[in-house]
Amino acid sequence: MTQIAICPGSFDPITLGHLDIIERSTYIYDKVVVGIADNPSKAALFSLDERVEMAKEAVAGLGNVTIESFEGLLTVFARANGARAIVKGLRAISDFEHEFQMAHLNKKLDNTLETVFMMASPEYMFLSSSAVKEIAGFGGDISGLVAETTQARLRRKFAR
Ligand code: ADP
Repeated sequence: MTQIAICPGSFDPITLGHLDIIERSTYIYDKVVVGIADNPSKAALFSLDERVEMAKEAVAGLGNVTIESFEGLLTVFARANGARAIVKGLRAISDFEHEFQMAHLNKKLDNTLETVFMMASPEYMFLSSSAVKEIAGFGGDISGLVAETTQARLRRKFAR
C-alpha cells in the first residue's frame, strides 16, 4: 500500500526549514503532498498562486513530492489525497502547545489520520517564514534561509 503524507502550512514563503521536513518525509513515505492553505483570515505577503509556484520551484529536485493548495479543513484535504499521516515540523518549545491542540482536534475530526511530529534540524530551529520576510523587507541577507529561487522572488516583492 502506498503510504502518503501531507505536509501542511501557509508557506509564505517556503523556507529551508520546511524543505528539510519535506525531504526527510520522503525518506519515510512513498509520496509527500505539500498542502498550501488558503486561509483568508491570515494575511499573507504572497498570493496563494505565488506560494504554490515558489514551493514548486523549491522542491524541483525532490522526487515523490507534489504541491497542492487547499481551503477548508486539513483533515478533509488529507483524506481526499488518501493520506494516513500529517507531518509537522516542531521547532522550539513555542510550537508545541499549538501543534498539540491541532493534532488532538484533527484526530477528533478524523480518527483515521495520525499527526506525526518531526524535530526541526538544529540549523533551522529558529527559522520561520515571518523572520525571513522581516529580514528581506529590511534588505538583509536571506541566503541560507530560503532556496535561491525564493530569494529572487522575495527581492522582487520588496523592490516594488
Ligand atoms: P503555519 O501557517 O501553519 O504556521 P508554516 O508555513 O509557518 O505554517 O509552517 C508549516 C509547518 O512547518 C509547521 O508544522 C511548522 O511547525 C513547520 N515549520 C516551519 N518552520 C520550520 C522550520 N524552520 N523547521 C522545521 N519545521 C518548520
